[in-house]
Amino acid sequence: MKAFEATNYYLKKAMQTMDLSDHIQHLLIQPQREVKVKIGIELDNGELANFTGFRMQHNNSRGPYKGGLRFHPTVDEDHANSLASLMTWKTAVVDVPFGGAKGGINCDPSLLSESELERVTRKFIQQIHDVIGPTVDIPAPDVNTSGREMAWMMDEYSKIHGFNPGIVTGKPLDLFGADGREEATGRGCWLICEEALKTLNRSMQDATFVMQGFGNVASFAAQFIDESGGKTLAVSDINGGIYNSEGLDIAKLMQHMKDNKTVINFPGADNITQDELLRLNCDVLMPAALGEVFTKDNADEINCKIIIEAANGPTMPEADEIFNQRNILVVPDILSNAGGVACSYFEWVQNMQHFSWTLEKTRTELDLIMQKAFNKVHQLAKSKKVSYRTAAFIIAIGRVGKTTVLRGI
Ligand code: GLU
Repeated sequence: MKAFEATNYYLKKAMQTMDLSDHIQHLLIQPQREVKVKIGIELDNGELANFTGFRMQHNNSRGPYKGGLRFHPTVDEDHANSLASLMTWKTAVVDVPFGGAKGGINCDPSLLSESELERVTRKFIQQIHDVIGPTVDIPAPDVNTSGREMAWMMDEYSKIHGFNPGIVTGKPLDLFGADGREEATGRGCWLICEEALKTLNRSMQDATFVMQGFGNVASFAAQFIDESGGKTLAVSDINGGIYNSEGLDIAKLMQHMKDNKTVINFPGADNITQDELLRLNCDVLMPAALGEVFTKDNADEINCKIIIEAANGPTMPEADEIFNQRNILVVPDILSNAGGVACSYFEWVQNMQHFSWTLEKTRTELDLIMQKAFNKVHQLAKSKKVSYRTAAFIIAIGRVGKTTVLRGI
């Protein structure tokens, strides 16, 4: 099953429990606009290179399209459509006034120099500037993009359209970024861990965690978990994983990461493979890397009580059914990792008002949004006897469906 098909499987499963006409279902499933562009640049050695860029705008009935741009070799129409759709449902679950979009460039940024990356980024914005805008479509960081790329994007867009900090979110703090945006997705995942554990009468202090990944999301989640007494046993990056059954020293691991650019060979921990990491015995397993991690081939061997989907699309439908049968609580991506886009909303609001919030205010508002969304999903899942994923989709489809009808078809 391909990525967009998997997202639509979940969507249709929720739609079956709702009273929606075929026409509305079709409107909600299909993207409103698909943009594909060729990006030609000159490499540092004088040769020319071509890349393909995408911006899929899935739905904007609740507000401007919103979602990240990733730079990765797996970026294609199918993945971008799947991820754009997930953004529509994610912004609706946490009730921020945005729609959903996603995109990126099919490239391997590790093979490009900084100046080549800058040229690719700027060329991409030149190609899509007329379909994005602070009230139209607002990109953000995603896999392999961060404040640096957002700064180039804001600058390139502003050259064409004038000063416009609200064109992208996730910008550097010194360039109209928001304090707390960088940590927001990880913080949101940590909050959701806490809420999910409570439903099983468990607490952070007596829980063990395993994370696939240790990038922006997992590293911040691990630090918040550490501060609240949770024990992270294993993490990984593209080179492999590390494991210590007594728990990893997260502060030292952050330093090790800085010095070595990898988690591998961390003193006091064993190096393990990604497959071994996913099968470790723990309370909470957090996939925080790319999608399609859990399939029918490994779902029976996963050894945890709760899965917090920090990555987008980590669970394929066959695996999801197995997790449901095995009573593993899966908190879906459209809720678990929504802290990032919730905080993007705060950044956008601050940019529109030319005003900035304190970190404390950002954290308070983010915590409220995440807790409210979790409670709503939890209650609906209990009352309708459906999975958290189906409950989250029902809530989101209800909200998007309502605005679609109210605006007139
Ligand atoms: N890329 C992040 C996500 O998948 C953030 C999107 C945003 O802030 O617009 O949720």
